[in-house]
Amino acid sequence: MVITISEKVLRRTRQRQRILEVLRATKGHPTADWIYSQVKPEFPRLSLGTIYRNLKLLKEQGEILELDFGSTFSRFDGRSENHYHFICRKCGEVFDVDMPLDNNLNKKATKTTGFDIEDHRLVFYGLCKGCLKIRERR
Ligand code: ZN
Ligand code: MN
Repeated sequence: MVITISEKVLRRTRQRQRILEVLRATKGHPTADWIYSQVKPEFPRLSLGTIYRNLKLLKEQGEILELDFGSTFSRFDGRSENHYHFICRKCGEVFDVDMPLDNNLNKKATKTTGFDIEDHRLVFYGLCKGCLKIRERR
């Protein structure tokens, strides 16, 4: 079978579109491995490297966020606008914290540093509801 350039381009576009759909459809903040496992059945020749390349591209296009919480692997977020997160220190799950952005923080940090602070990321740590229940039962 002869595969033309345009077919290749088309397949790549469909793969990237599918990755974005999978990310937008989940409330979780999945790893590249998880996204790979979801998309792979549709694209048998897909490699993990391609997933990473597409995630990088989507990030550069402002379609997704890459969340690097200092762990060895990144998590990805289909919500690209800035929002706060919570990480459970017990189970490691990442949740959205749907409270308004505190834009005073940018001003305060600008005042403190003399830098032109444009934006900030905020992560809360503690125990999630599920882990709290487990603790109460003991
Ligand atoms: Zn938890
Ligand atoms: Mn999020």
